Amino acid sequence: MSEPEKYTVGVARCESYDPQEVKGALALALERAGAPEAKGGSVLIKTNMLSPSEPDRAVTTHPEVLRALAGEMRKNGNAVHIADNPGYIFSDKGKLLRMTGVGALASDGVSVGLLSDLGFRSVGKDSFKTLREARISSRYLDAPFVINAAKLKTHVETEMSCCVKNIFGTADTATRKKCHASASQTALAEAITDLFVIRPPDFNVVDAVFSMEGDGPSYGKPRNTGWILAGANALAVDWAASAIMCYRDPLNIPLMAAAASRGIGPRDRSEIALVGAEWSDMPSWGFKKSTSLVWMLPVFLRGIAHGLVSLRPELARDGCVRCGVCGRVCPVDAITGEAGAYPVINRSLCVKCLCCHEMCPTGAMTVHRNFLAEFVVRFRKSG
Ligand code: SF4
Ligand code: SF4
Repeated sequence: MSEPEKYTVGVARCESYDPQEVKGALALALERAGAPEAKGGSVLIKTNMLSPSEPDRAVTTHPEVLRALAGEMRKNGNAVHIADNPGYIFSDKGKLLRMTGVGALASDGVSVGLLSDLGFRSVGKDSFKTLREARISSRYLDAPFVINAAKLKTHVETEMSCCVKNIFGTADTATRKKCHASASQTALAEAITDLFVIRPPDFNVVDAVFSMEGDGPSYGKPRNTGWILAGANALAVDWAASAIMCYRDPLNIPLMAAAASRGIGPRDRSEIALVGAEWSDMPSWGFKKSTSLVWMLPVFLRGIAHGLVSLRPELARDGCVRCGVCGRVCPVDAITGEAGAYPVINRSLCVKCLCCHEMCPTGAMTVHRNFLAEFVVRFRKSG
């Protein structure tokens, strides 16, 4: 009996964003992954442009990786468009493109922009578990070939942000708020998976040259992890990426578990053919996961634990510029305050989604561990 076909993930070492090094490593990762030839004459590269942040903060996919990827796609004569929807409140397109370095990539045959530029369409699917319908970027839905160019980061709510999570950015603000309005980490994972299955990308590339560790996706620290990953199956690539973050069992990450249970990719590492390295080469030892503590518990306990051992937003007035962004992003309107005043959090409404922390432009909305969470951390350090 022949072996079942495996999900191939190609990986290549890349220590820096030196353009030549990135170009070589990306070409190697694509070759090892058996990247298909993009058809249709045009390619959409769905990048991660979460916020107007400089590339060295590791919040967004690095422009050198996007440049190299666009170059590979141009070899076949494809027109390339690089785009994303930033977090809800960043409406200044010029600033976003300038600060992320993506604006400078526009050249002959390569255009850049926002995924919202052609509007959104309502999509409903029988396979949805949490959402009834979602509004998704028309540009994304209609693209003949999509490459998902994710950044490897920690995430205070979903623990890891990589290929599957990156597709969250194809939805409009109202849909994303609906996903975040749930008090359960598992429900958020199911909602993101609902969005992913609408139109899975045709290919995936991960910028893990510098990844984000700590309290991502906005305020963690860059860490030189030194990899570029590529593969046709987003979940398989995420599996390899989770090894960089030292997860022993990636199915402990609710989003990975939700995606695997829907059959959109491997359910076990043995289903993946890792090309270019051994699994034991992948970990960046000592990698700091997010201080979201729920990941330490078995998946079946997480619904209960989310309310008990969880993090909550806490305002540090010193850094607050009273811009009102946190109030605008809160999916359940738990933040009030007069215009120009310090925000006030209504704890009885707050579902601890931490969107306010993620989107605060100054980092003044911090993450606070409760007593039980603190106890778990200390216990773990001494254990
Ligand atoms: S906490 Fe952050 S987002 Fe909220 S008002 Fe202050 S600076 Fe703005
Ligand atoms: S106050 Fe912050 S953490 Fe609480 S629900 Fe609103 S955005 Fe989420």
